[in-house]
Amino acid sequence: MDKDFLKKSVQYIRSVGPRRAATLQKAGIFTVRDLLYNFPSRYEDRTQIRTAGACVNGETAVLRGTVLTTKEIRSKRGLIVSKVALQDGLEIFDAVWFNQTFVKKNLLPGTKIIITGKVEKEFGRTQVTVEDYEIDDGRDILSFARLVPVYPLSGQLTQRFLRAIVKNALEDLNSPGEFLPGLIFEKFQLPSIEKALSDIHFPENSADAERAKKRFIFEELFLFQLALAMRQKELRSREKLYMYVKEGDISTAYVESLPYRLTEDQLKVCTEISRDFESPAPMHRLLQGDVGAGKTVVSTIALLRAVESGLQGALMAPTEILAEQHYLGMKADLNRIGVKVALLTGSIRKKERENILERVINGEIDILVGTQALIQDKVHFKRLGLIVVDEQHRFGVRQRATLQYKSNSPDTLVMTATPIPRTLALTLYGDLDVSVITQLPPGRQPVKTYSVTPGALARVYGLVKEQVRLGRQAFIVCPLVEESEKIDLQAASELAEELAGGEFKCWRVGLLHGRLHPDEKEAVMTSFRRCEIDILVSTTVIEVGVDVPNATVMVILDADRFGLAQLHQLRGRVGRGAQQSHCILVASPKTVEGRARLKAMTRTTDGFELAEEDLRLRGPGEFHGTRQSGLPEFKVADLLRDWRALQLAREEALAWVREDPQLRKPERRLLLEEVKARFYNAISYIDVG
Ligand code: ADP
Ligand code: MG
Repeated sequence: MDKDFLKKSVQYIRSVGPRRAATLQKAGIFTVRDLLYNFPSRYEDRTQIRTAGACVNGETAVLRGTVLTTKEIRSKRGLIVSKVALQDGLEIFDAVWFNQTFVKKNLLPGTKIIITGKVEKEFGRTQVTVEDYEIDDGRDILSFARLVPVYPLSGQLTQRFLRAIVKNALEDLNSPGEFLPGLIFEKFQLPSIEKALSDIHFPENSADAERAKKRFIFEELFLFQLALAMRQKELRSREKLYMYVKEGDISTAYVESLPYRLTEDQLKVCTEISRDFESPAPMHRLLQGDVGAGKTVVSTIALLRAVESGLQGALMAPTEILAEQHYLGMKADLNRIGVKVALLTGSIRKKERENILERVINGEIDILVGTQALIQDKVHFKRLGLIVVDEQHRFGVRQRATLQYKSNSPDTLVMTATPIPRTLALTLYGDLDVSVITQLPPGRQPVKTYSVTPGALARVYGLVKEQVRLGRQAFIVCPLVEESEKIDLQAASELAEELAGGEFKCWRVGLLHGRLHPDEKEAVMTSFRRCEIDILVSTTVIEVGVDVPNATVMVILDADRFGLAQLHQLRGRVGRGAQQSHCILVASPKTVEGRARLKAMTRTTDGFELAEEDLRLRGPGEFHGTRQSGLPEFKVADLLRDWRALQLAREEALAWVREDPQLRKPERRLLLEEVKARFYNAISYIDVG
């Protein structure tokens, strides 16, 4: 058994010298494993070998023949044309190459070859413009008489070269170490690694190729899920340093002070969190709930449970506006009950920052709210018990992990309004328990959504005025002109000015954009919240989390330029009170996709449905948050197409890890090695703390 062969440099493969090894390395192929796991993107069916006589004009065919003569002609335009007369036993025909000087040198009379290319018949003679050929010298033919692998090419690598060295590698591999547990083969009827590698490159028929592919898909998902499950197990085996008291005075006082009753879903999630608090292992919980579902109050209760247990809490939000909003909301509600909250963002001035850091470390501050500034080195807590991460899709896994460093084994609650389709949630959050709020608070009416062309703007503004007259407020979101914040800002300021002086001159128009100083931002948001601004013109900075229940109109200009997730988030800024709200998408979409997105928005307000649609339109790689989540890219698996396999792989992985948490059993050694080689790095945050 030469399992080490897989780990060796490609230079160990026959006919790969230093120069070719360098070319392969440029294409990202360093080891034998890299080469063998560089799967064909498709196969060309060259099983049928034809005779020249049987071919029709214009078809692409495979022919076999013996070289009679070879001629090289220089055409008028300077092309070197190599013309080889071939005899296939019945007939003589010509094979033609362009600018391939090796032909004359290599294809001496008497050489047997197989070619493929386009067949032309003129004046009773057959001529083939060669696309690919191979010398038929009695050895194994790689490029003909079979399903021929076609590799995704890069740089100077040719199909012919890749086929040849893959074949050599396969021959020298003899019995690679099988790492998948035997039971799995039986259960899922997968081919062995040896057969699968051979079949994925040189299948005898398409059924074999399919089975091989099935194995590699399963293998990939299984190894990944094993890595996740191991992390999960590892996290669970830690011990919390702190204990929580049973529901105490502070959280009870807070819940009693709320102007509403918690919904059943909110209560259910509170119970789930309480159970995690009581467990000796730290909590790792994802709280999913559509925009406006009321996640904030749940997280506040959780933070207060920490505070009344003598611990500190941290709340991290993706934007300054959102952090400020959380801070202001908490300050208003919690100061009364004696809880100290502080805000830490990148733009807090140095002196104040130092003061806050000091009070965090000596335990004076109970809850620290902030942006990424929270994960900076200088922030130290006295006894951090709970971390809440809001709108978690905006953060990478790594950032979440860094915050966990701040304390030995804090409880972690991450919240997201991005409705992650079930199929993906498993993969993305395999290391978290998931709580879901599906119920919206009572009395909410679904937002009415319309899609109109810019020609209807006057009517749209009419609706805005009508609502403002009723005492409500409106958002107008400006088109994303470019990726550039500067240009966005300009467009927003101009529009605000234009509207304030014209259409809405009787009303109070405000402007909000990312470039405002935090104090100014806060001032604008505070006036909007206090209803001192009727119409807020804004760039997409209001996208996440902003909560002003009195706002009932959301106008989105050039709506087709936004992604579905973003549109859904924006729409979520209205419909937060008992009043009927409206969302107007203004656009003249130029692409099919743009039209499809607007249509989906008017069809449903269900975030999960929209997420599925988004996935369909854009593919999982583009899915909001997937890329930022720090997940590895999959080579063969496709999370959408292979969701069944993903579920099976997860169940299996959990079962194996339950039995042998760190895959320590000797018979799992190869499996563990494979997990490490393929996915451990991708989720290396496993080793935090
Ligand atoms: P999200 O889940 O998007 O973060 P928020 O926590 O901002 O949503 O809540 C949206 C609005 O719903 C807030 O104004 C909040 O006060 C209100 N809210 C939350 N829970 C309830 C409830 N049980 N009954 C009535 N209103 C609620
Ligand atoms: Mg929120």
